[in-house]
Amino acid sequence: MVSLDNFMNDNGKIKNQKSINLNNGVTAEHLYAGLWNTTLAHPYKNVAKPDSFHIDMTGFHMPTPSRKVTSNFGYRPKFKRYHKGLDIKVNTGDTIYAAFDGVARVVRYDANGYGNYVVLRHENGLETIYGHMSKHLCKTDDVVKAGDPIGLGGNTGRSFGSHLHFETRFLGEAIDPALLFDFPNQTNVVDDFVYKKSDSHDGMVTARK
Ligand SMILES: [Zn+2]
Repeated sequence: MVSLDNFMNDNGKIKNQKSINLNNGVTAEHLYAGLWNTTLAHPYKNVAKPDSFHIDMTGFHMPTPSRKVTSNFGYRPKFKRYHKGLDIKVNTGDTIYAAFDGVARVVRYDANGYGNYVVLRHENGLETIYGHMSKHLCKTDDVVKAGDPIGLGGNTGRSFGSHLHFETRFLGEAIDPALLFDFPNQTNVVDDFVYKKSDSHDGMVTARK
């Protein structure tokens, strides 16, 4: 088994005790066991998900102090595709911060999509993705703390105007970041977000209407 080492790497003493308690001993390490992939943003196609999982939000840090959401999560009829993140206005060169403690899983450039992007894995079970950055400020396998600078805002990849494309995913499944982070008010929405498989549609968890 390589899962534990690969999940948090050698420096990874950080454990989210609250998350472990909430989930009756099931940890993100169990869920992601053997799934450490440093080249693909989305390696989780057929990974089974638990019926429910508590995600501890309390260690959060806002990825940017910007309060301006420029595009919401959801279907974009104009492009006939889903927008699986939230766009937040930032200027090129603005610092982008890690949303939670974690480890940088993917630090790459994707010319036709995310541009310069970073995927962080967190011990609360989430992964967060930061796209269109002008510069990376971390490397693959880096251990980061919530609030550490991980990149600079930009306009790289498939992007029209500088902004941060921010995704929150659970075992690859996109959760509307607006269910977790309130950018206009610069705070978290809930301290304990309960992922429920029954809330998932087309591989996404969107706000209940
Ligand atoms: Zn976007």
